[in-house]
Amino acid sequence: MKKVQRRALSVILIIVVLMGGVGYFTFRFISEGQKWVNFTANRHVYSSGGELIDGAIYDRDEKPLLYTEDGKRKYSDNESVRCATMHIIGDKKGNVAKSLQKVYADRLVGYNIVAGMFSTKIAGNKIYTTLDSDICAAAYEQLKGKKGAVCVFNYKTGEVICLVSTPTYDPENPPVIASGDDNYDGVFINRAISSRFPPGSVYKTVTAAAAIDTIPDINEQTFTCNKVINVNGQKVVCSGTHKEENFKTALRNSCNVAFGQISMQLGWETTAQYAEKLGMTTSHNLSGIATVKGKIASSGELNELAWTGIGQNTDEINPFAMMRYMGIVANGGICAEPYIVEKLTTSTGIPLNYDKQTETTRILRQTTADQLSDMMRFTVMNNYGDKNFPSGMEFCAKTGTAEVDGDKKSHAWFVGFTRNEKYPYAFAVFVQNGGSGYGVARPIAAHVMSEIKKKVDQGEN
Ligand SMILES: [Zn+2]
Repeated sequence: MKKVQRRALSVILIIVVLMGGVGYFTFRFISEGQKWVNFTANRHVYSSGGELIDGAIYDRDEKPLLYTEDGKRKYSDNESVRCATMHIIGDKKGNVAKSLQKVYADRLVGYNIVAGMFSTKIAGNKIYTTLDSDICAAAYEQLKGKKGAVCVFNYKTGEVICLVSTPTYDPENPPVIASGDDNYDGVFINRAISSRFPPGSVYKTVTAAAAIDTIPDINEQTFTCNKVINVNGQKVVCSGTHKEENFKTALRNSCNVAFGQISMQLGWETTAQYAEKLGMTTSHNLSGIATVKGKIASSGELNELAWTGIGQNTDEINPFAMMRYMGIVANGGICAEPYIVEKLTTSTGIPLNYDKQTETTRILRQTTADQLSDMMRFTVMNNYGDKNFPSGMEFCAKTGTAEVDGDKKSHAWFVGFTRNEKYPYAFAVFVQNGGSGYGVARPIAAHVMSEIKKKVDQGEN
């Protein structure tokens, strides 16, 4: 009898262990299955070079930016488009960390817990982006080999139509990059979303919004610029000698003396509070891609506070965050959160479950946004000149020429938006060590926006 009991127990034990094993495998299958499929040794999904060979990515007009043909991964047939979209699409070797190919690897492959991969044939899913490949190519060509970034989005809908970073290269013909080659310095980094740089005077738009909101008599104040002010024995120097100014003309003149004084009135706490509120020091979620946070000083001597509000000191801001902020000002204080992935479908076009995460949030009071918009419009009309921009778009903008340490050239910035309702676009153009914001970044913005205008007028966007 005991023998029978012992045997029965052994059998039960074996069953328990077996069930446990099956349970463990099932648990791992559910929790890790996606990872197993995306494992780079999986030859259904990756080529021997480690390149993802599944799925396709399109621009807003359904032009292919990346697809598979005869088992080979292919990019756009236009070289400028390939170079312009290399960072956001990703190269063949997966060198760019924050590319759609990397972030959407599982969705491109089309892994599904019930069906597994949809098919053993190479097909994968399709990602439709909001990018306009013609506009991206125009921005890339305008950068003319300089390092920088061009970001444009529709501030009413949140659609990002242009997100270009240079230096870049043709992903169909990747170059051999020698270490220390300055032409390819930081080539795998998407400067538009993953880098931050001293903003210089474009940051005065942030200081201005804080001043409109929190300094009750800001519009009645007058400033006198004699090129230099002394703050606790330290000099704050202006690029000009602007004499008597009010708040509005101080922005038009981009006067450091006036904006240094405004920053000191704001104080460290309000300065930090507005940097965060306006998205300068926070990370943003671009359809699942996290952008880099900017940084500004939060304490120090009074002269450092003055320089912080002028966009110098230790300030570093990301171009995408600047574009997003311009959209908030343009849209009456409401942020239509920028996004880049419009929809996902299977290879046969069946829509897949996907949340666009289109959020609209009020960030600034309407009156604050509208006053700043008017001031930026005034700056274009009375300083940069409407004749330097495509007509009828109603440009509102601010230049930045950010000084950098050492004997390198300043960073050139040009940020703003067009407020004619027909063209609801906000932009940020950045050229690393490019020189003058007005001389170098402005023409790039003007050209890219004129290309957008052409498409809108032709009814294509
Ligand atoms: Zn001045």
